[in-house]
Amino acid sequence: MMMKEWLIGVGVAILIFLGMLHLVQVLPVLFLIGLGVLLWMVMDRKGATSASTRETPVRPNISFEEIGGQESAKRELREALDFLRYRDRIKSLGIRPLKGILLTGPPGTGKTLMAKAAATYTDSVFLSASGSEFVEMYVGVGAQRVRELFRRARAMAKRENKDSAIIFVDEIDVVGGRRGQHSHQEYDQTLNQLLTEMDGMSTSQSPFVLVMAATNRPDILDSALLRPGRFDRQIKVDLPDKEGRLHILNIVAKGKPLDSSVDLEHIARETYGFSGAQLEALVNEAAIIALRQDAKTITQEMFRDAVDKVLMGEKTGRRPTDEELRRVAVHELGHAIISELMRPGTVSHITIAPRGNALGFVRQIPEADQYLYTKNQLEEQINVALAGCLAEELHYGNRSTGAQNDFVQASSLARTMVRCGLSRLGIVDEEHLPEQVLEKEVRHILATQEQATREVLQPYKADIERFAEYVVQEESIDGAEFRKWMESMQVQSQSLASASVAHTPALEMSPSV
Ligand code: ADP
Ligand code: MG
Ligand code: ZN
Repeated sequence: MMMKEWLIGVGVAILIFLGMLHLVQVLPVLFLIGLGVLLWMVMDRKGATSASTRETPVRPNISFEEIGGQESAKRELREALDFLRYRDRIKSLGIRPLKGILLTGPPGTGKTLMAKAAATYTDSVFLSASGSEFVEMYVGVGAQRVRELFRRARAMAKRENKDSAIIFVDEIDVVGGRRGQHSHQEYDQTLNQLLTEMDGMSTSQSPFVLVMAATNRPDILDSALLRPGRFDRQIKVDLPDKEGRLHILNIVAKGKPLDSSVDLEHIARETYGFSGAQLEALVNEAAIIALRQDAKTITQEMFRDAVDKVLMGEKTGRRPTDEELRRVAVHELGHAIISELMRPGTVSHITIAPRGNALGFVRQIPEADQYLYTKNQLEEQINVALAGCLAEELHYGNRSTGAQNDFVQASSLARTMVRCGLSRLGIVDEEHLPEQVLEKEVRHILATQEQATREVLQPYKADIERFAEYVVQEESIDGAEFRKWMESMQVQSQSLASASVAHTPALEMSPSV
């Protein structure tokens, strides 16, 4: 750049000098030069804009072995990809080629990884772009970028002597939402162009271009995208179950110096609802904690802190007053006692160190991943959610604003009960259920459970007071210690405890206070 300006400066100086000597007619020459510079600048800008959308030709080098869990998704995907691998046979049988594969599922579950592994598996070149990149203010730009993308995919495959290319379009819902719903037609043109490109492909074409796309909102996609010959394979990439989480943990923790105390199985059990990306972040956080503590290995306790960090956010600098700390301790003990009574052994730890938006929380270990809940189990979850504010009430005779989240959770559980026909209303049609009737029943459920929880908590009043002091002192209490304390109390717990069943629900870990 410096050089360029310097040259221009010198050039102009020489011209002026020549002009002064009347050797050249200066004006026409200056005009020509001006025109040249203008053209140059325009070209430069164009180059810059197309460079910004240029997909880096990453060599993915990711194999299916490096993707944890997702066994059925991987199997389905491999089957689909065999269409590409055995193209000759497909052609000889006259089978329509597979042009698009749609990966659906929540963020961070490994969709991008899958697309990259697909490229490795089929020995294709890999290009990726994100739906949001196609959307610009100028109409037609998106469509042009799609054309460009396909052109480049073919060029790249040829250059690398490959028979096929995989184009991965992340966030396809941005351009592939139902047509006519957007305020301007840019999206439509982009989508139309994508469909045109896909329709134009045939088995005999070489290099062949396969489009893979990802979305977490398959429900809003334009139906034209899902028609045969386009994205007619949909593969669900779901949050991993416990086995999947263990598998992912093993993959992402590989090569990290784990202490012998580390029990990945236990961590997998604790991390219900975590995505692959969150598990990766978890291992990374644990390593950062090790670094901060200047430790050589990563211990189980560091993992525990890292789970808190990923779930709740970084510890905040907020410093509650002593009075507040005590209230938080009382509140959390309420949650913990009810949780432990109903499902012994599931309190992982109690902490009153503020993190993210929470002043404190009880983390629970789900016994097993669970997808169905009985009425009893839902009621138990409501009990746990309400127990925080009820403990405050028991101890202080009043409540605080700290239970807002608990109430949101409790009423959403109650709503689930009503909708699933588990309330006094019996089977209901959600669509035709008047809002007031729903509300009334939800309030009834909450009031009933509130009373039940209060009764169970009552005998613990004095003990909560004493133990809360200890929690304030220690800041964090682990499950084993808490259980020892529970045993020492000898409180004869009846009603709720006896109602608890052997296999109880995996309560979503919920922050409170
Ligand atoms: P998505 O595209 O579904 O949002 P990504 O494939 O981009 O998710 O995953 C982000 C990161 O999370 C990956 O780079 C990887 O480190 C980790 N990850 C996610 N899912 C898995 C998985 N199933 N196995 C191993 N790592 C995973
Ligand atoms: Mg992704
Ligand atoms: Zn709470």
